[in-house]
Order: sequence, then C-alpha cells, then structure tokens
Amino acid sequence: MVTKGWCENCQFQNRNGVLYCSQCGEKLQNGEELQNKPQPPRLVMVLAYAVVLAWLLFVGAWLFFYASGFSVLQNIGIGFFSFAVMLILEGVILMPWAMRQPP
Ligand SMILES: [Zn+2]
Repeated sequence: MVTKGWCENCQFQNRNGVLYCSQCGEKLQNGEELQNKPQPPRLVMVLAYAVVLAWLLFVGAWLFFYASGFSVLQNIGIGFFSFAVMLILEGVILMPWAMRQPP
C-alpha cells in the first residue's frame, strides 16, 4: 500500500511511502484514497475536454462558413441549441462518475 505520509493523528507530514508516522507512531493508511478521490478518471477528463473543444470548433466553423446564410436570431438559436447539446454530452460523460462519488 502506498501512503502520502500525512498523519491524521498529529498532523505531521511524513516522507511519502512510509507506513508509520515518525512523530507519534500512528499507522498511515488512507493516503492513496485521499489522493484519488477528487479527480475523475483520466478518460472522463479527456472526454469532457474533447466535448468542449468540439463545441468551440463547431461554433467557430459555423460562424466562419455558414452564419451569413441565416438571420441573426437563427444564428443565436443555433448557438443556444449547440450549447445545450454540449451540456447534455458533458452530463452523460460526467454523471456516471459523479454518481459513484460519496456525498
Ligand atoms: Zn503522527
């Protein structure tokens, strides 16, 4: 087991990887858990970034190539619509991970 060396008993920061606190002798055991909790898995992070990037590329390409063929209101509508689709995709990607996190 790998620990981060943080002692909950006396708040002493030990060397990484040690199993017992060098100040008070308390067993260090939850370093790995603390390290892993806040960050989603890397695949989820990559997908979440990819969706935002794809949306920015879509809006950029839309404004560049197609926007002149539509009215201002229609273009605003497409902007909102694509933004909503992006948010739904983010929800689908992040929800399974968020559901697994303790409250
Ligand atoms: Zn300690």
